[in-house]
Amino acid sequence: MNRVKNFNAGPAALPLPALERARLEFLDFAGSGMSVMEHSHRGKEYEACHDEAIALMKELLGVPDTHEVLFVQGGASQLFAQIPMNLVQKGGSADYVVTGAWSEKAVSEAKLATAMLGGSVRVACSTGTGDGKEKSYVRAPAPGEVKAADGAAYLHLTSNETIHGVQFDVSAARAFPATSAPLIADMSSDFLWKKVDVSKFGLLYAGAQKNIGPSGVVVMVMAKALIEQGRKDIPKIFQFRTPAENKSLYNTPPTFGIYMIRNVLSWLKGLGGLPAMEARNRKKAGVLYGAIDGNPGYFKCPVEKQSRSVMNVVFRLPTEADEERFVKEAKGKGMVGLKGHRSVGGIRVSAYNAVEPGWIDELAAFMGEFAKKG
Ligand SMILES: *Cc1c(COP(=O)(O)O)cnc(C)c1O
Repeated sequence: MNRVKNFNAGPAALPLPALERARLEFLDFAGSGMSVMEHSHRGKEYEACHDEAIALMKELLGVPDTHEVLFVQGGASQLFAQIPMNLVQKGGSADYVVTGAWSEKAVSEAKLATAMLGGSVRVACSTGTGDGKEKSYVRAPAPGEVKAADGAAYLHLTSNETIHGVQFDVSAARAFPATSAPLIADMSSDFLWKKVDVSKFGLLYAGAQKNIGPSGVVVMVMAKALIEQGRKDIPKIFQFRTPAENKSLYNTPPTFGIYMIRNVLSWLKGLGGLPAMEARNRKKAGVLYGAIDGNPGYFKCPVEKQSRSVMNVVFRLPTEADEERFVKEAKGKGMVGLKGHRSVGGIRVSAYNAVEPGWIDELAAFMGEFAKKG
């Protein structure tokens, strides 16, 4: 077996110990003589694993009693529609902060959802520049730049823009805004990279496939008060109170995905939890940005220093042909997934939790040699 150094943006690298544990338990889960995938979601073996995943999430993130941990399906993209469906009342309005492609998508789905159900959407702050169809995004706003409107149902932001490599709260100057409206964050690509103060958020959510598991599951951490305020005139399957009242077992959940999240969280805990993960991630990002800034005539990161993502490091080479050659040569050395998103081009290194510091050191050394060679 020859496992590569996987820098994919998502689905992305998973910790080897979590995968190995799955392999070991694949055919016979908890001594039951069948795979976890073959179990009833109402059986005691699966339920123990489900409960463990929720408990680990609460423990690692420090989720207070005011909040609920939910597992839902449909991807983060479905939540772009489901959040306004639940939380914007008839005649109400929601505020959005736009810092890249994913927040643009969240806004456009919210517009459709509120048009259907009688409400509206306002962009409270956008850091996009340029008036073409594709805006350029190179920073998160300073906390003082963001003001929620009086009575806004919530303020939504994307904590890490996976495509543009722009992240909130990596520096004090780009801390999350303090708002009167409940704060909602799409943390799909930076969930559990470090500790956050959950009590400051009405809702955090993340598709699992970037940082904490396989695709097919979305984790929500939501204030109970906000769940209760949700509309009741939308189908029950879309109401957040439905998973909340049923421990995310209203209908069949993505059992294998939740099982894998359990394995990943248990690995994360063994490594020292979120404080250890933050130190590890900041060090990896430091090595990568060091390699970029150390070769200023060759590599360029467009993102302002205070917003540079710890999770998705983006940069350009002098020409597109150089970038193509870079991706190809890296692949020859077992380093894959380095091509930037098709909408922005360039190189993107996704350095999620499961990406080993040793891979980053190897990539940085390769970058240095590549730049020297020109
Ligand atoms: C990948 C991603 C999404 C979309 O996730 P799906 O689960 O594919 O719907 C949404 N937001 C961010 C920030 C992402 O990185």
